[in-house]
Amino acid sequence: MNANTRFEFDSATAAALIEALPDPVAIVSMDSRLAAANAPMRATVPGLRVGELLTLALRAPDVLDAIARVFAGGEAESVIWRDRAPVERVFEVAIGALTTGDSPLGKHVALTLRDLTESRRIERMRADFIANASHELRTPLASVLGFIETLQGAAKDDAAARTRFLSIMRDQARRMSRLIEDLLSLSRIEQNEHLRPVEPVDLVVIIGHVLDTLTPMAREHGVAIDVKGPPELVVRGDRDELVRVAENLIENAIKYGSRDDGQPSSVEIELARDDKEASFSVRDHGPGIPFIHLPRLTERFYRVDAGASRAKGGTGLGLAIVKHIVARHRGRLAVHSKPGDGACFRVILPV
Ligand code: ADP
Repeated sequence: MNANTRFEFDSATAAALIEALPDPVAIVSMDSRLAAANAPMRATVPGLRVGELLTLALRAPDVLDAIARVFAGGEAESVIWRDRAPVERVFEVAIGALTTGDSPLGKHVALTLRDLTESRRIERMRADFIANASHELRTPLASVLGFIETLQGAAKDDAAARTRFLSIMRDQARRMSRLIEDLLSLSRIEQNEHLRPVEPVDLVVIIGHVLDTLTPMAREHGVAIDVKGPPELVVRGDRDELVRVAENLIENAIKYGSRDDGQPSSVEIELARDDKEASFSVRDHGPGIPFIHLPRLTERFYRVDAGASRAKGGTGLGLAIVKHIVARHRGRLAVHSKPGDGACFRVILPV
């Protein structure tokens, strides 16, 4: 192609070109009426009608002012438009003049929208996550530093205080270490989330292994664990990750499902399968979880009662880890709970 090659677009070609663009695009004429809009634009601003005034469909004063400035001979501009209904969305709107030469249609501007809603949401989540993780680490760290200073000063020669403080410091250091372990697991699982694990693993063996490690904890809390299901239940998965899922759910059932008055309690684990899916559920008879918390339970650091979770050694990351592992296995997590009637967490995996 030599440098002089020029394409002459007739209006049908121009319309087809706009229509083929994946981002929302609209062309506005000088009298502020819509000259053209492609399908993504019509879907984003459903009220738009060709030939009608743009203001009838687009209630965005900043965008309309910017269009006026571009018509008045200004440079191309980009402005932020926050649409509040039906759901809150944020767009970057780029507005540029179309130089149509001596077109009988006169001057036009092109509007291109870029949806920033998702990237803004991810940015906010990342900022919240860093703030939460720092906050979770700051408290035990401040406590360890405080005790070190006390041991160096006032309690220097107090053997009894030293023993007590060292034990608290060990608990706080363990808490930080658990938190860092959980944060690292979470990021590892997230990095591999697109790779579905395919090794055959037997859920019955996994549950048996987890119960072996959690039996002392169950005994300490007065919780009897009962397992029901087939003698074997093979799915495709990652053994260590599924151990982690079972461990988190059974540990939560023991921690939150046991009774404060020391009375015995029970946890039921049930394995099942049909031709499409295998599942295991963990049911406790504790206080349960109020309905309004259920949708947010698997968010990082979301707890129904932060004080109670910390007192029981929780990091607030267990269910977030469970959710990501289950997603990596292309399965789903269902939670049923009624306050006063315990909670039931069910992991469903494809077979
Ligand atoms: P944590 O480390 O706090 O246990 P998780 O992510 O495992 O974090 O759980 C999040 C929150 O969900 C807990 O803090 C608790 O409030 C609630 N929760 C989880 N499992 C149960 C359960 N079996 N019964 C009642 N509440 C539960």
